[in-house]
Amino acid sequence: MQQYARVITDDPTDKELDYSIPPTWAGKVQIGSRVKVPLRSREILATVVALVDTPSVPNAKNISALISESPVLNYSLLTLARWMANYYCCPVESAVRSLLPEVIRTAKLGFKQERVVSATREISETELGDFQKKAPRQAHVLRAAIEVGVPIRWRELQQNAGTTDRTIQQLVDRGLLRVDLERSERDPYANESFIPSTPMALNPDQKRALDLVVQSVDARDYRPILLHGITGSGKTEIYLQAIDHCLKQGLGALVLVPEISLTPQTVERFKMRFQVDLIAVLHSHLSAGERHDEWHKLNTGKARIAIGARSAVFAPVQRLGLIVIDEEHENSYKQEETPRYHARDLAVVRAQIDRCAILLGSATPSLESYQNARTGKYRLALLTSRVDDRQLPLIRVIDMRQEYLKQKHIPLISGNLANAIEARLTAKEQTILFLNRRGFATSLICSQCGFVCDCPNCSVALTFHQGENRLKCHLCGHASVAPRKCPKCADPSIRYSGYGTEKIEGTVRKLFPSATVARMDADSMTRKDAYRQTLREFRTGKIDILVGTQMIAKGLDFPNVTLVGIINADVGLYMPDFRAGERTFQLLTQVAGRAGRGDMAGEVFVQSSTPFSPSIQFARHHNFEGFFEQEIEVRERCDYPPFIHLLMIHVRSEHQRLAEFTAETLHRRINEQIDAGVTLHAVVPAPIERSKGFYRYQILLRTNAIRRLSNTIRSIIDKLTFPEEVRVAVDVDPYQLL
Ligand code: ADP
Ligand code: ZN
Repeated sequence: MQQYARVITDDPTDKELDYSIPPTWAGKVQIGSRVKVPLRSREILATVVALVDTPSVPNAKNISALISESPVLNYSLLTLARWMANYYCCPVESAVRSLLPEVIRTAKLGFKQERVVSATREISETELGDFQKKAPRQAHVLRAAIEVGVPIRWRELQQNAGTTDRTIQQLVDRGLLRVDLERSERDPYANESFIPSTPMALNPDQKRALDLVVQSVDARDYRPILLHGITGSGKTEIYLQAIDHCLKQGLGALVLVPEISLTPQTVERFKMRFQVDLIAVLHSHLSAGERHDEWHKLNTGKARIAIGARSAVFAPVQRLGLIVIDEEHENSYKQEETPRYHARDLAVVRAQIDRCAILLGSATPSLESYQNARTGKYRLALLTSRVDDRQLPLIRVIDMRQEYLKQKHIPLISGNLANAIEARLTAKEQTILFLNRRGFATSLICSQCGFVCDCPNCSVALTFHQGENRLKCHLCGHASVAPRKCPKCADPSIRYSGYGTEKIEGTVRKLFPSATVARMDADSMTRKDAYRQTLREFRTGKIDILVGTQMIAKGLDFPNVTLVGIINADVGLYMPDFRAGERTFQLLTQVAGRAGRGDMAGEVFVQSSTPFSPSIQFARHHNFEGFFEQEIEVRERCDYPPFIHLLMIHVRSEHQRLAEFTAETLHRRINEQIDAGVTLHAVVPAPIERSKGFYRYQILLRTNAIRRLSNTIRSIIDKLTFPEEVRVAVDVDPYQLL
């Protein structure tokens, strides 16, 4: 019997330490158990990663407590944590930390217990009759409890028998009823019911794709399959049938969707197909208790399917047979704080470790994944038509420069778009208007002195929100009352420039006074239920025009929407970011895909002042291949991913000099140690130089050997001591370049 446990503590030490297992817990401490151990003068939480015969130190101390007996991390998740620490240049402890939800790591919260009541013994009808004469009310309750035959919840008995706590308690005191505690699970969907759906007959493309996935599941083949299917081509139906196959083989499945599309609508489709209690849903709005229960349902194997956003890539699905990544191109799979992992990339690694199939689905695959399919690293499955051969929407690009020539200003809604909306209102069809910018105006500018209201903490202009009459910073959340006159020269002619969804909503209301208009963005959807409610009203046709940000860009499937207007396609296109074109193409395609999903054809208007940019033109012609060809060529020429890997180091501090100085020091040290073949760029201020009160500097590196570089950077950073007021963060394969 091995008597020592090797642990990784929750503290950032990054060393594995050995502790001896006291006899009481012999055989109970396992790999993956959570324990408490003494370290220096403190007791800290730790995870057991191995059991060993001989400790690495002579006098190993005792483990002081066993937090959870059943293991919380299995071998494959531990392996994933190590891989992650190594690749993403972060301490193992921080990787383990992100693997386990807080509530599981600390084990502070257990299952919810509920009181159940049952009779203590057989009670004959005669005895009950006698009792009836003495205490009629108690007898009534006792009879009710006996009739149920099994333990009944205290609350339920009270309601069923129309009685009080006191009467039940009296029966308990008499020894006729007993009370036990029973584990009860918190079910976030407890009050919903689902109409069962059955598998649909697949079209030939779908059939081919499903066959490929099924083969991989059966062969435990972890080579990723990229499912490139245009919007509305029936990708979800393939996921459902592939998962069904897994369940029949006794295997589990993991489905990742972007947080933004983890809508009730998506989850519903799974709950309609599979037994509801086989599914665990993991998202950021769960209470700690709900998260605890969903996690355990998976860990015990009671639930077989996990559906969740980014961090669900670590869900403890047992006997994993298939991982599905829906909308694999989505940037929200990238975590923007340490450890800065990409859930899709980790999922590919997890599939290797677990030897399971993995399916990446998208209408607009990322350049990285599509290139992998091109080179044969991934397999490719294609869905080239919409189900029932519904047409893709007709996309019209409106040149806003022409509008300017006609009207001497650029209108928010062009004449063509306005006419199209009018026609939909008459036909009782619905419209979606999309703008990826919230608020009323993007800035407040004084027309006398040119003063712009900037955020005091960030180097960006404040956005004007009319409803609240406030200026807000979308980076740090700073908010202040909007001034009536210029804060600098006191001139009252301060005016708004730029526009956001709030302004569009107002304009649309004015243009179409009889229409019902709703807005959906981070500002209007702060109430927990607002999102569901607005979607419900839109579905039932109570809303004619829905205005929104990217919150409405994805996954929504409303058959009565026949018109989509993209107010300004140029937002986001001219950012200093090599992915700007790709993001714009993806967004336009996704938004356009909301139109014409029912029996009626859809139409899309794209308003732009640069109508000939490739992102817009290829999106207009639904030409992913064309877009890919031209974009991949640019990436290759300019040495960008997927041809090389990037590594970004962020240095920030509230003191500008200190941040810059630290970055320069680090830069010198790196320059001395990196291999030939790595390109090290000069220290530069971030495009948004100041954010949340921090001055920010960046060091960018390019390489073909990312693991090697990641290790080198790690060891350089570990050896340096930085001033306390400076933070240094490493981002491997960065997505956020601003
Ligand atoms: P995607 O995920 O590719 O955008 P969906 O899976 O949402 O597409 O499918 C669009 C619609 O087509 C859904 O309403 C779905 O139920 C339906 N659908 C999918 N496959 C079939 C099929 N083989 N036959 C009929 N309808 C289908
Ligand atoms: Zn700010």
